[in-house]
Amino acid sequence: MFTHLPSRSVFIDSDRYVSDDSLGYWLAHELGHLAANSASESDANKAARDYRKRLRLKDAHKRDSHRSNTDRALGQNLSGHTTSIG
Ligand SMILES: [Zn+2]
Repeated sequence: MFTHLPSRSVFIDSDRYVSDDSLGYWLAHELGHLAANSASESDANKAARDYRKRLRLKDAHKRDSHRSNTDRALGQNLSGHTTSIG
């Protein structure tokens, strides 16, 4: 895993990507590095907390959205996704 690549690209090692939940967890961590503009793991974890909070809110919304046809269609549009941070 990396953070301060010149490209600002975010990579998650495939051995850490065991489920969508873990992808979100590590993405939040890496975004934490970017948000804090720091290579420090503790800074990243501090900033990651906010992202994980947002991720949980979004997941809760996703579950709710299966109740209506409109939202179900929206979900299909998003089904080719690679991440769920947003
Ligand atoms: Zn880190």
